[in-house]
Amino acid sequence: MRRSVRACYAGAAGYSYAKSADDVAREHGFDRVARLASNENPRPPSPAALEAAAAALREGNRYPDTRASALVEALRRYHGDYRFVTGAGMDGVIETVIRTVVEPGEKVAVSTPTFSFYALAAGAHGAEVVNIPRREDFSVDPAAFAGAARGAKLAFLCSPNNPTGNSVPPEDVEEILDRMDGLLFLDNAYVDFADTDYRPLMRRHDNLIVGRTMSKLFALAGLRVGYAFVPEWFEPFYHRAATPFALNSVSAAAAAGALADPGPVSEARDHVRRWRERFAGEVPFPVYPSDANFVMIDVAPLTGDEAAERLAAKGVLVRSCTSFPGLGNHYIRVSTGEDWENIRFIEAIRDI
Ligand SMILES: *Cc1c(COP(=O)(O)O)cnc(C)c1O
Repeated sequence: MRRSVRACYAGAAGYSYAKSADDVAREHGFDRVARLASNENPRPPSPAALEAAAAALREGNRYPDTRASALVEALRRYHGDYRFVTGAGMDGVIETVIRTVVEPGEKVAVSTPTFSFYALAAGAHGAEVVNIPRREDFSVDPAAFAGAARGAKLAFLCSPNNPTGNSVPPEDVEEILDRMDGLLFLDNAYVDFADTDYRPLMRRHDNLIVGRTMSKLFALAGLRVGYAFVPEWFEPFYHRAATPFALNSVSAAAAAGALADPGPVSEARDHVRRWRERFAGEVPFPVYPSDANFVMIDVAPLTGDEAAERLAAKGVLVRSCTSFPGLGNHYIRVSTGEDWENIRFIEAIRDI
């Protein structure tokens, strides 16, 4: 029966997950491990989020609202008058967007090196994935990007980019939108940590979708809530393509609660900004400038895998970047965590 598995899953390895903190703790004999591999918020969800989730749980016998209306209302209060769609994580939104616009066999363009899920999801849908390499310094050439994306139904651009940490200036995104003939999915998973605001572009372009997540700054990674700003014409088609009830009612309520309580979030943002500066100053390897809640570090002459292994032995879990296609094998990505985690990391990396 194994023969029945599709080729895209039979051969390839799929998504690369971070090593589990429990495994690292057991293997190396630590009570607790610094968890700096997945760009999470190290703090628990806000009290407002927890309270809203608990209330929703009591009505768990009912199917969720099909359009997550209360969450969409909370998003409009937080961001202003835009159109939103929601999903089970931004990953769920990405999958649904692909299903909405791409026929199997059509082209999907991806600016690389970047988050691997765009290519995995597009490939699994039967699309032809076209990689568009960034420049040597990981910046994006807008004209080259738009040229290479010609004929693609959909293109993915991540800003701030995972794992490199840099942003594409909004003027350059605008140039891409002007020159492209397809839709651009701009992944803003980390924009909460940057000074850049791409939302005004939504007012001027009907070929832009901006993806956001509640997993990073808003501390809800385990609850799987993502959403996107979409052009008005796109919204009804997204709903036709979406899995019914993909976003569960407890997660939707938690997200609405978190958005209504911005205090903890602004503290978390300041904490991230302070620590990414300290990483840049105190790590004895080249640290790439970052607009996100992580930094990418060039650990040559070590490989990313070697550095990650040595750090794990010192009780620090980071992400080796060797699984990011199009990136060299000598980078690691390190999230900003709690103070003790960050301090343990700095001490550990000075020692490898
Ligand atoms: C974490 C991340 C996401 C996905 O977030 P979820 O909402 O947890 O699915 C999307 N894009 C990038 C670049 C990410 O790093």
